[in-house]
Amino acid sequence: MTQEIKVTVKSEFIKKYKDGYPLITKESIQNWDKITDEGSLLNLCDEKGGFILKAYYGKQNKGYGWVLTPNKNEKIDSTFFAKKFQSAINYREDFYDDTTTTAFRVFNGEGDGIGGVTIDYFDGYYLLTWYSLGIYEFKSDIIEALQKTVTYRGIYQKKRFDSKGKYLDEKDDFICGERADAPILVKENGANFAIYLDDGAMVGVFLDQRDVRKTIRDRYAKGKTVLNTFSYTGAFSIFAALGGSIKTTSVDLAKRSLPKTTEQFEVNNIDLINQEIIVEDVFNYFKYAVKKNLLYDLVVLDPPSFARSKKRVFSAFKDYVNLLKEAIQITKKGGIIVASTNAANFSMMIFSDFIAKAFKELKGKYEVQERFSLPKDFRVSDKFKEGNYLKVVFIKKLK
Ligand code: SAH
Repeated sequence: MTQEIKVTVKSEFIKKYKDGYPLITKESIQNWDKITDEGSLLNLCDEKGGFILKAYYGKQNKGYGWVLTPNKNEKIDSTFFAKKFQSAINYREDFYDDTTTTAFRVFNGEGDGIGGVTIDYFDGYYLLTWYSLGIYEFKSDIIEALQKTVTYRGIYQKKRFDSKGKYLDEKDDFICGERADAPILVKENGANFAIYLDDGAMVGVFLDQRDVRKTIRDRYAKGKTVLNTFSYTGAFSIFAALGGSIKTTSVDLAKRSLPKTTEQFEVNNIDLINQEIIVEDVFNYFKYAVKKNLLYDLVVLDPPSFARSKKRVFSAFKDYVNLLKEAIQITKKGGIIVASTNAANFSMMIFSDFIAKAFKELKGKYEVQERFSLPKDFRVSDKFKEGNYLKVVFIKKLK
């Protein structure tokens, strides 16, 4: 039985929670020392003991847990989770019906009513990602709820939290059903992706860039030379090639990116002759490109929000202006830079300022062509707008 703890919300935070803010913060709770075990249910009350809402305790980088329900008597059991999953599935009916796209997000944490867990769909397989030990304590109810609401071939999981030595007996990411092939092939707007459900932290593709990839393929790639930096498995290069690019160059530091990117080209029957895959630090590659006078029609920038390599620490917030300046110098006049970031610690407005600053410092000129944030299946709560972390800007270099 999950324990329930009554805690008092400081008066200045009561309105925020009553208005639907879903994230539990430490500074909003008066008697935080009562809360010790991850997965505890918290009954948030005002100073007179009046019930406000029910939440759970689960520590993650964002905060200390998430709101579950404003109803005092609602039981947090498999029926509760199943109701949330059903409405998430209904919202994505068009994705289930679309045979040209068989990989999408089914449940997006707080955007679908429960923070700390996401569920992705890969052609009949469901992948749960747990972001705290607290939410993981509800695993059996959540799995039961999922089993009740969907037909599945198999269910997998990824743990994105420090389990503090717990659960060491769980050797792989498989939960139940049929084991998936390694890889399985999924479709995205008609293209193929090789997906590995049980091979480390990542499966091979970031689904949140789907609309950006389609836009590159359908409207920007034809007849162009493309440089894809921080390319991972080359997803942007695949779509550029499918859109008729003359040549793609994919650059990533990780050794695995070479076989992984090659594989993604192969499963799409793309001739590798015009696809260059380079394992190198992007910042070295920029220097090399400047020295060789290389210029590209289209440059994709999609760095991690934070990365530590042997030589440097990269932080999107601190270093994006410099990254853009490097990219501007090797983009043709009239060419396009697709500047992307998934850093949640700054807004689209600040990102736009970075772009303005980079061009200004180089005495350049530019025009924004279009902007993207998260796609429909990555549902965002209007009470928690900071959940919309993705920012992508298509920039035309005029000078
Ligand atoms: N753009 C990719 C996702 C990028 S994930 C896509 O659309 O799928 C971030 C990638 O950046 C990782 O693959 C990591 O290996 C790579 N990376 C991090 N620092 C790097 C650096 N300094 N130079 C090159 N690649 C780097």
